[in-house]
Amino acid sequence: MTFRARHLLGIEHLAPEEIRTVLDLSEKYVALNQRTEKHSDALKGLTQINMFFENSTRTQASFELAGKRLGADVMNMSVALSSVKKGETLIDTALTLNAMHPDLLVVRHPASGAVDLLAQKVNCAVLNAGDGRHEHPTQALLDALTIRRAKGRIQRLTVAICGDIAHSRVARSNLILLGKMENRVRLIGPPTLMPAGIGEFGCEVYEDMKAGLEGADVVMMLRLQKERMDGGFIPSEREYYHRYGLDAEKLALAKEDAIVMHPGPMNRGVEIDGELADDINRSVIQDQVEMGVAVRMACMDLLARNLRAERGAKAVGVMV
Ligand code: ASP
Repeated sequence: MTFRARHLLGIEHLAPEEIRTVLDLSEKYVALNQRTEKHSDALKGLTQINMFFENSTRTQASFELAGKRLGADVMNMSVALSSVKKGETLIDTALTLNAMHPDLLVVRHPASGAVDLLAQKVNCAVLNAGDGRHEHPTQALLDALTIRRAKGRIQRLTVAICGDIAHSRVARSNLILLGKMENRVRLIGPPTLMPAGIGEFGCEVYEDMKAGLEGADVVMMLRLQKERMDGGFIPSEREYYHRYGLDAEKLALAKEDAIVMHPGPMNRGVEIDGELADDINRSVIQDQVEMGVAVRMACMDLLARNLRAERGAKAVGVMV
């Protein structure tokens, strides 16, 4: 098992064998989660604090469940009620929490880079639960696990990522992971929603959705992230759905057994047809949610092992 990381800040810092380690360990947690008794002692005695400066449903709930199933003491810090609202800076908040000796800190923040900054100020393992448009590593890992289970591999696949690429940390983490695992990535969307310099990531860019979907094994749809838009990026939602909304007709251009993914929350009738999203023969959206808990258990388990080893090594050093 190879996993050297001290924090999980982004897919960009992980080597392919570390990604494989997370996915393999996640499989064990998928099996555990399907049992009636779901408990393990992997995080027993450890304290996990979830700090969400931005709204979240799936991610926060699954990190909480993951920590509890592994036996950690889990605290959800409600940012709306905290001193952050009184003007305390991110770093002050982090230092205050650090003084309570957490072992795992799960952070979501609207600013890209905020989680990296915080990781430099605390002495516990930090997990990035989404920072601005930058990265959302556990989402990419759970997507990889979902793909690997559906397709039997996570290499040599053609993956079409479609929609609001410019504002999406999910797209960024996914395209880095899929590239590291030697897949072909196509990005589909209007030029206004395509970030500048995206070609550097080694992916193909399509404005025409139909051309981009042709022969794809995986079709990953993204939400239009209106909260990150400060102007008119699309003419209208109706027009957007017509050109970039996934429906059965457009999906027919992909491979016959292509799977449909979406990280949630979905805008039905804007980026995806509601019926297609619920079609269990094509859509793996609910599997993504299930994999999310297992992947977060695996990530926290691996980071806790490294943390314990590091602290153990230091303690021995002190004794000598
Ligand atoms: N839930 C994902 C995220 O936090 C995707 C989205 O919000 O559209 O980035």
